Amino acid sequence: MPIRLLPPVLVNQIAAGEVVDRPASVVKELVENALDAGATRIRVVVEGGGRDLVQVDDDGAGIPMEELPLAVAAHATSKIAAPEDLEAIGTLGFRGEALASIGSVARLTIVSRPRTQDDAGVIEVDGGRVAPVRPGAGPPGTSVRVRTLFANVPARRKFLRSEPTEAGRVIHLVETVALAHPGVAFHLSHGGRTVLDLPATEDPGRRLRDVLGPEDAAQLLPISAEEALEDGHRLSAWGAVSRPASSRPTAREMRIYLNGRPIVDRSLLHALREAYRGLLPPGRYPVGMLAVEMDPTQVDVNVHPAKSEVRFRQPSLVHQFVHRAVSRALTAADLVPALPLAADPAPARAWTGGAAVADRAPPRPEDPAWGFAVGARLAAPAAPAATPQPAATAPFAAEPGLPELRHAREVLQVHQAYLVLESPEGLLVVDQHALHERLMFEEIMARLAAGPLEKQRLLLPQVVEVGAESAAQLEGLSPLLERLGFEASLAGPRSVAIHAVPSLLASRRVEAGRFLAELLREPPESGAGRDAEAALHRVVDMMACKAAVKGGERLTPEELRVLLASRERLERATNCPHGRPTTLRIGLAELERHFGRR
Ligand code: ADP
Ligand code: MG
Repeated sequence: MPIRLLPPVLVNQIAAGEVVDRPASVVKELVENALDAGATRIRVVVEGGGRDLVQVDDDGAGIPMEELPLAVAAHATSKIAAPEDLEAIGTLGFRGEALASIGSVARLTIVSRPRTQDDAGVIEVDGGRVAPVRPGAGPPGTSVRVRTLFANVPARRKFLRSEPTEAGRVIHLVETVALAHPGVAFHLSHGGRTVLDLPATEDPGRRLRDVLGPEDAAQLLPISAEEALEDGHRLSAWGAVSRPASSRPTAREMRIYLNGRPIVDRSLLHALREAYRGLLPPGRYPVGMLAVEMDPTQVDVNVHPAKSEVRFRQPSLVHQFVHRAVSRALTAADLVPALPLAADPAPARAWTGGAAVADRAPPRPEDPAWGFAVGARLAAPAAPAATPQPAATAPFAAEPGLPELRHAREVLQVHQAYLVLESPEGLLVVDQHALHERLMFEEIMARLAAGPLEKQRLLLPQVVEVGAESAAQLEGLSPLLERLGFEASLAGPRSVAIHAVPSLLASRRVEAGRFLAELLREPPESGAGRDAEAALHRVVDMMACKAAVKGGERLTPEELRVLLASRERLERATNCPHGRPTTLRIGLAELERHFGRR
């Protein structure tokens, strides 16, 4: 075939492939247009998951009748005029592509009336063919109807999912946009039924409750931060993020916005997850919303046809800012989950399994079934140790800890695994291994900040068979191993000789050879900057886990005291480094309810 210019309809259909790939993206473009037009009320009507009809009505500025043909033409926009406008985009749209694209793959009707115009103008486009504008009737604002989406693009239509799936995406999209624009009323119906009815409000918390439901919204911690960067540009963030107890397996419900635009941004998501490091198990994501606002000159939104990705001028400053904002909210909050964790369990069920404290006769100190029952008096908690705090967390070292612990005078170790303490509102159950693991982790990190860990030289090298693949990892890992207090060299193609081991592991009688073999088998990803930091965390985490007391170990009163006192001064003491909780709370009210006392 000779080279030739493509006809405009085909150009638009190709563009449509990038901009509108499914009903939810049609809804996104139309709702963004309504917001750009200054709408205060937006109504979305969807039929058949959006294949049959997507209609968006707004009360915004409207389109003058004579401009309607331009509105549906490609590369025609009222939002930018000159190249320099691309440097500071303050609107959601700017590419002038959406309506032309939609008109090329569906039947598009626009009825629009600016306030100053008596009649509405109507324009229709069907599969790229534009009909002349005719007068019509309608309230001030714009109504855009999109019917039989992709009727003329079978390849695209084939890829649409079932009606409920597509409808689900539309709902998620409208919720996402609505969360960032609480001042605008949103109404969404599907198949004639109201799905969302969100009144305008000045209170973002109210919008959050309306979208997520009061129970889920109550689990969220508010975020509000503002900072001036060195060059004078301001950065702010608002929103709310979940307590660690309510996490999800994907990032879908952690919505991130930049200047009112929902974005997908790996770096900001990373900053968020870093703020949760040690509070969430691997592979879990927080829930919530985080809206970052900044001077539009500091970010390029012209990166992706669907405008869902952005490029920051100073990515690492934005990353740090988000990390600080979220960390601060988490540090300030009481993150101890309270039982019952289910909504409203039946009394009989609430106490089976796990809750060893309540379903037995009261313990007698000599009862062997209770193992080690102490009446150890907890002295006033130890003064914070003078260990240096790791620099990364220092700015947020506000008031961590759990004030209730000061209240507890007695502690009971049950099943050599849990510590039970009185608190002003009920009782606390501490998992001794989980808390000790957190304590070890923080101590190792603090010591590492000061230099390599102390090591103990072995009289004779210990030779460990690790296999060829693991042995090959030794060299790459040696800088890390030295920091941890290991000295090791290759003893053969499949074996490693250990000359010195970390004192910490030796004193906790951890088999250092096994530890090293495990580390070599699954070496942490080496890398620079953040990656190196994450790799270090993983290894220290492993070490802390091995060195920590296990369930089944008896603790002396002094050990109990030290362990619980650490609870006071540690940050993130509510969770072990893997993100599992260290402490659960059982409220008096909860006890009274289950005992039928009220
Ligand atoms: P863009 O939003 O990138 O400018 P679109 O194709 O989405 O491109 O829209 C083209 C133009 O049509 C817009 O620039 C705007 O002037 C006008 N327009 C579209 N939708 C609306 C609306 N709901 N209210 C007022 N004007 C609109
Ligand atoms: Mg647009």
